[in-house]
Amino acid sequence: MGTGVIIAGAGPVGLMLAGELRLNGVDVVVYEQRATPSGESRGVGFTRRAAEVFHQRGLLARFGDIEIGNEGHFGGVRIDFTALEDNHFGIRGVPQYRIEEILEAWVTDLGVDVRRGYEVVDYREGSDDITVVVEGPDGRAEHTARYLVGCDGGRSRIRKLAGIEFPGREATRGMYVADVVDRPDIKPRVIGERVDGGMVMAIRLEEGVTRIIIHPAKLTPRDNSKLTFSEIADSWQELTGQSLHGAETKWVSAFTNATRQAAEYRRGRVLLSGDSTHIHIPAGAQGLSVGVQDAVNLGWKLAATVNGWAPEGLLDTYQAERHPVGEKLLRNTLAQASLYLTGDEMEPMRQVMRELVQSPDAARRLAGHVSGLGIRYDMGGATGHPLLGLRMPDREVKLGDGSTTRVSRLLHPARGVLVVADGSTGPAKLAAGWSDRIDIVTDAGWSDRVDIVPDGWVPADTAEGTTPDAVLLRPDGHVAWVSPDGGELLDALARWFGSPR
Ligand SMILES: Cc1cc2nc3c(=O)[nH]c(=O)nc-3n(C[C@H](O)[C@H](O)[C@H](O)COP(=O)(O)OP(=O)(O)OC[C@H]3O[C@@H](n4cnc5c(N)ncnc54)[C@H](O)[C@@H]3O)c2cc1C
Repeated sequence: MGTGVIIAGAGPVGLMLAGELRLNGVDVVVYEQRATPSGESRGVGFTRRAAEVFHQRGLLARFGDIEIGNEGHFGGVRIDFTALEDNHFGIRGVPQYRIEEILEAWVTDLGVDVRRGYEVVDYREGSDDITVVVEGPDGRAEHTARYLVGCDGGRSRIRKLAGIEFPGREATRGMYVADVVDRPDIKPRVIGERVDGGMVMAIRLEEGVTRIIIHPAKLTPRDNSKLTFSEIADSWQELTGQSLHGAETKWVSAFTNATRQAAEYRRGRVLLSGDSTHIHIPAGAQGLSVGVQDAVNLGWKLAATVNGWAPEGLLDTYQAERHPVGEKLLRNTLAQASLYLTGDEMEPMRQVMRELVQSPDAARRLAGHVSGLGIRYDMGGATGHPLLGLRMPDREVKLGDGSTTRVSRLLHPARGVLVVADGSTGPAKLAAGWSDRIDIVTDAGWSDRVDIVPDGWVPADTAEGTTPDAVLLRPDGHVAWVSPDGGELLDALARWFGSPR
């Protein structure tokens, strides 16, 4: 019988999931069909919540000096992302190949076995385990584990093998992308610019490389295989007047607005994560970012299941929590695509949106949405405190010995965390039986109040923020219990962390 987890695909999501499982002591093998990394970068950065998720595991520092985007928008309509207490801008200028390099180095240090040049081609599911068939440099081989996770991208073979439906909208529009080297004369158009005949965008990918994206209104989905840069340069010139013909490029491609979501994120011993569960137009740097959060939601739950302490139904909360997030992602990218890419007939709607986002409440709501900070999970029906179910902001925590730490640092080991900040001893005593799964920080205090990101039901007066007496955080950084008025601590411990020792 196999013991650990097999992941198909060493993209950002597969690698993040591998790290999460390994932090929780699970044996992980990642099979990646490419013998060497592609060096390509679809992504050019990530959202604020994805940055927080990396920071929770001590990874953000590995990115070096990062560039914070300073133009918030929704489908090209500017939003004031400073509408919330923290700013909510995402991270720009980090090419996806770099994110993958950093994650692969991290998981390799943690002891994950990343096997390149192996394609997962089939599997057989048993009652206690799953046998995965791979084709690699030495031919066919089999490997048995407890679970298989398909992090194998939008065309996911695992999803197809599992027979999981992928309903959605067919592609109707085509777009070009090219990474152009050494052309400082390309005018930055970071949130895109509507021009006669379509939309153009230009953003710094990394030192000396500019990412251009073009949507010629007349372009329908096209075959990517015969695409040349000269075709893209023709289109750029037609829309902007500038000739880029003959420029050196690192990558050229075409993509579409196909929008689909997997009907199930789990079937038996097979789970899906990242692009294998959702594809959409890349508006607002969200695909990789949401995928990485899928992985962080799944990792500790799958580890708890493999390690034998998961409460009944814990693994099913992965679909219950992440499928609605995927639905919202598809909806917001479709809405952004309409605003961005439709012609003059959309102008009245764009104008209405521009007026609406002048309202701080509307700006806060949209900023929470696009940044990924407004995600709230159901914490067993408890709704007494506005922080419940939201992610805990990265506040400084004062410790009893006079030193300080931060919420992100407390989450580094990917375990639960109980922070008691009102000097009481009751919560720590109640949680003692779970101390093998959660870290308990008593005699603590908050250096600053904690802001609340609105998601619909938060009362207006919470804009001032809160300083909770105590919080219980799940390993993914979401608030499972809060004092006062956030339900019973014992219920929350049992719901998320199983039976006491
Ligand atoms: C133009 C463009 C720009 C984008 N910009 C951004 C951005 O700025 N920010 C952002 O957050 N998102 C962005 N995205 C989306 C982002 O690129 C994807 O969401 C992200 O790559 C998904 O990661 P993943 O790990 O799920 O899948 P992938 O990155 O597709 O990785 C899947 C991996 O699985 C491997 N694989 C496939 N089948 C098998 C198999 N059978 N066996 C073994 N291995 C297999 C593949 O080789 C691949 O390495 C952009 C997308 C596009 C098209």
